[in-house]
Amino acid sequence: MLEIKSIKKAYNRNGEKITPIENIDLKIDRGEFICLLGPSGCGKSTLLNIISGLDNPDSGNIYMNGKKIKGPGKDRIVMFQDSGLFPWLTVKENIEFGLRINNFSDTEIENRVNKYLRMVHLFRFKDSYIHEISGGMRQRAALARALALDSEVLLMDEPFSALDSQTKTLLQQELQKIWWETGKTVIFVTHNVEEAVLLGTRIILMGTNPGRIKREIKVDISIPRKPADRNVRYIQEKIIEELKEEVEKVASKEFDEEWTIEKDTILHSPDNDLGANI
Ligand code: ADP
Repeated sequence: MLEIKSIKKAYNRNGEKITPIENIDLKIDRGEFICLLGPSGCGKSTLLNIISGLDNPDSGNIYMNGKKIKGPGKDRIVMFQDSGLFPWLTVKENIEFGLRINNFSDTEIENRVNKYLRMVHLFRFKDSYIHEISGGMRQRAALARALALDSEVLLMDEPFSALDSQTKTLLQQELQKIWWETGKTVIFVTHNVEEAVLLGTRIILMGTNPGRIKREIKVDISIPRKPADRNVRYIQEKIIEELKEEVEKVASKEFDEEWTIEKDTILHSPDNDLGANI
């Protein structure tokens, strides 16, 4: 369904050339749950923004159902870490908004709003304003807003990374269930190894400088998956081992010299995060 061909993107930062991504080739089938996993700065968001059409590659092309992507489209909806909901509208009005600007009829809007509010278990809070609901509820409202447009692909950029771990676990389970029920194609950016192994049907491991695909891992474990599951842990450990070098590369760029003294303790801790918090 989605074909990413030889994508490259470079930036100039203070005279230094940064190549967030280079030589990215990837084919994604309908219904896959793809996790783009890698340390901070390896170009995951850059790639997601190019797939969404919000950013252009320097070279290469992306095809959706055989057609070249030239900009944002209703077939690819993005959801970010920050819910991006309008604070002056209620939960229900936020979901309605996207449908209104896409010219859906009043009856269709009402049907979709009710359906997706129920799907994310927020129907009871439909008339609440955004400041009245928790961070987890905001992300569920943002998910309902994205789902209501019924796009073929859902692009998610670390949507749960700002949430506490219990809320994150609940939302991961909820998203997986919705993905399973709706058959949507999801492309999900994360720097958290456990999250990728719990959610993905395929994990795309990315390396840094330049950002590229290091390896693809098919996760053939039935869902719902548990963090303590032996197979989940096995894949997780393999990935952490494989990406250690990449995390070190990022850290040596972002840290002072003392980093070399402390890196052993950090790199050998059972941490699942690949650098967004370093
Ligand atoms: P990730 O999502 O993996 O953390 P990003 O795609 O956000 O990585 O960024 C990759 C690299 O590209 C980083 O070094 C970042 O600073 C740089 N970058 C991203 N966007 C821009 C931009 N608009 N201008 C300059 N550099 C950028």
